[in-house]
Parts: sequence; structure tokens; C-alpha cells
Amino acid sequence: MKESPQRRNLEHILRSSKFVAGGFMGDDSRSIIEVIDADASQVSRLGYTMEKIAARMQEITDTAKTGLGNWVKVDDKHQAVAEEAKGSLICPWPHPGRYVKRITTVERYDSGETIRWSDLNIHLIAKHGFFEGRGAAFRIEPVKLINVIF
Ligand SMILES: [Zn+2]
Repeated sequence: MKESPQRRNLEHILRSSKFVAGGFMGDDSRSIIEVIDADASQVSRLGYTMEKIAARMQEITDTAKTGLGNWVKVDDKHQAVAEEAKGSLICPWPHPGRYVKRITTVERYDSGETIRWSDLNIHLIAKHGFFEGRGAAFRIEPVKLINVIF
């Protein structure tokens, strides 16, 4: 993406705390494009796509929602819980639509490893290939995510 006023504005928004405490970039000094490119190459190196990852996250969240705050068995390898908070989040890109402040936590039975995400994370990965910057509260490491959810 070319440097443009829109691009600079997006950088500004993602680094500000306007939408989420601490912003989406944490203390990451890389540009948004560098963050997205680095994560994209990790994902493709492991043989996955953003679509596949986001679809799996959505599937887990949809299953977890049925537990109404209790742990639910997703499949033989995973359990998950979804917790809803008041309010909603919006996509900073921006996109229309609001995302419920729902946090899904998934655990692998075999390793005990857990990972969590918000509904907005799923959208950011699916539509923007954005896992957030290092140090952001909801930064997701693609390698860890793939290891836990698949
Ligand atoms: Zn968006």
C-alpha cells in the first residue's frame, strides 16, 4: 500500500487508544504493513490462509457461545468458553458494523495451551490479515494460534 493521507490516518488510529485501551499496535515500532506482511508470511509458510484461520476461529466461537459462559467441548481436542462484556467494538479501518465485546478462550486438552480472541480479532484477521502489533492487549501470534486451534 502506498503512503497516503488515508494510510497515515490508519496508522494514527491503530496506535491511538480511541477504540481500545492501548491501541491495536501495542509498543510495536513496525509499520502496519510490516506487521501484516510478517504475519502473512508465517501463515503461508505453515500452509494456512487467513480465511481458513478465521473460519476455524468463528466455528470455535459459535460453539463456545452455546455454553453461555461455561466451557463447552468443541471436538475431541478442544474446549472453549465465550464471555460477553457490555458494549461493542468497531473496525478501525473503518468498516461499518459493530462487534460484540465477546472474548473466546480455547484450550487444547492434550497440551493445556490456551489462546483467546475477540470477535473483532476474527474480522481483523479475515478481512485485513491483521493480528495486531506486539504488546497490544489482543495481539495474537499466528504460529501459536495455528498450533492451538487446529
Ligand atoms: Zn474491517
